[in-house]
Amino acid sequence: MRWGLIGASNIAGEWMVGALRAVGDEPVAVVSGSLDRARAFAQQHGLAHAFAREDALDALGLDAVYVSSTNERHEASVLHAAAQGWHVLCEKPLATTLGAAQRMVRACAQAGVVMGTNHHLRHNAAHRRMRELLAQGRLGRLVAARVHHAVYLRPVLQGWRIDNPAAGGGVVLDIAVHNADSLGFVLGEYPVQVQAQVSSTGMARGLEDHAMSLWRYASGLTAFTHQAFTTPHARTGIEIHGTEGTLEGDGILNQRADGSLLLRSAAGVEPQALDRANLYERCLQQFHAAVRGEPNTLADGLAGQRSLAVALAVLESARRGAPVDVDYG
Ligand code: NDP
Repeated sequence: MRWGLIGASNIAGEWMVGALRAVGDEPVAVVSGSLDRARAFAQQHGLAHAFAREDALDALGLDAVYVSSTNERHEASVLHAAAQGWHVLCEKPLATTLGAAQRMVRACAQAGVVMGTNHHLRHNAAHRRMRELLAQGRLGRLVAARVHHAVYLRPVLQGWRIDNPAAGGGVVLDIAVHNADSLGFVLGEYPVQVQAQVSSTGMARGLEDHAMSLWRYASGLTAFTHQAFTTPHARTGIEIHGTEGTLEGDGILNQRADGSLLLRSAAGVEPQALDRANLYERCLQQFHAAVRGEPNTLADGLAGQRSLAVALAVLESARRGAPVDVDYG
């Protein structure tokens, strides 16, 4: 597939250009708000074209675009892609409002193009194995989940995320969306109600850089999620607790395919074998399967809409100081 990149971003350069080539695709052009930055990106990554306007892509015979600009700019790019008949992989959070995400999902559905959300974590083998073990009933009745996703935001990323609410900054839109998607993928459900507290712990200005929340699910399960930008030594992980067993996924919320997974039960401790497939390449392989109309585990546009809905409810709960029902639109 021939791809256009919308956004001369860190994630595009660090991970997605290489992943596209690794799965046999061709990134052919980049669009940036600054022509100089687009040209520098194209030169650094060996792309044939660099533009400062998205409509310059229209003549290139593209199959798909990857949207990784700041969050408030995703909507216009996805709507343009749908109008051109391009498939689109959009970064998370899909947008900064639920209405925008709904318009994006609707436009892609009406145009008959595949819309994916780059929730890469569900492509970690631990997530897939957790889902399988739950489907096999190995944990019995599910009781609780704990998601530890407190990290350190690298200095190179300490820009709009920590000082620009209009761009969708803040740790909740950045990380809680991943947690909602990971649990949605593993558990097969999304929370109906959330209760949250957020704080600024020394990095963000006018935004939260730390958040803890409790999520209540229709099945009766409760999840605790912790996300932060300011905890360089914390480990990431997901635990799922049931009446017959516990799953402990340690170090499984990273960009690299790291981590381990243990099943604890009356039978003892069973380490789970995990493959180390690159998460972004696997996302693109699942994107290809979706384009071919085959079964796939891609986080589609609706998954991105749902994860955004949860994050927006977390922010609203923190603002109100009260539990909030999640509005999925
Ligand atoms: P960046 O800050 O690197 O890039 C976002 C935009 O900021 C770019 O499109 C670019 O705009 C602008 N920009 C980049 N560098 C500069 C600069 N030096 N000066 C001025 N503007 C600059 O963001 P990220 O790559 O961290 O994130 C992009 C998107 O990807 C976000 O939606 C984020 O949430 C998501 N993301 C997803 C990850 C995942 O694993 N799924 C991981 C990291 C991010 P322009 O294009 O106009 O040049």
